[in-house]
Amino acid sequence: MTLAIYPGSFDPVTNGHLDIAIRAAQLFEKVVVAVYDAPPKRLLFTTEERCQMFRRALADVGNIAVEPYTGLTVHFARSVGARAIVRGLRASQDFEREFEMALMNRQLAADLDQVFLATSLGFQFLSSSLIKEVVQLGGDVNGLVPAHVKEALEQRLR
Ligand code: ADP
Repeated sequence: MTLAIYPGSFDPVTNGHLDIAIRAAQLFEKVVVAVYDAPPKRLLFTTEERCQMFRRALADVGNIAVEPYTGLTVHFARSVGARAIVRGLRASQDFEREFEMALMNRQLAADLDQVFLATSLGFQFLSSSLIKEVVQLGGDVNGLVPAHVKEALEQRLR
């Protein structure tokens, strides 16, 4: 079975993330969304909350699981038997950092490959940090995140 992981902070999950996860699930037999426990940035939601929000959004997709992880992404990938690491690419600003991480991951684990999926046009400028900023300022993020994520953001930020 060809398994892939889709790692990230997902603080919180957006429709851009969901688009990548669902498309990856059409390419691989199973996708494990890997929610990074301790990224080097301030988080709004706990690891459990970030996992739950992602799980609820994909409850009807059979071949996607959501799990927390900590430590090196390549170690987590190996621990679940993954062959590939999926990442989403937005505008050109993602490229340098993603390329750097992909080369380092290959250096650490030559048996794993990174697969990049280009974002869909409507999600090009969508990021978790922008969503948080907009909700905090009272804006409506309908259509950019699932309804339960919008509610959680409004409760936390207003
Ligand atoms: P990070 O993993 O850097 O903490 P995120 O958790 O926001 O960042 O994103 C996880 C993955 O999803 C990354 O590969 C990121 O480029 C991708 N991603 C984020 N937002 C979008 C989007 N709107 N469209 C496509 N991919 C995205």
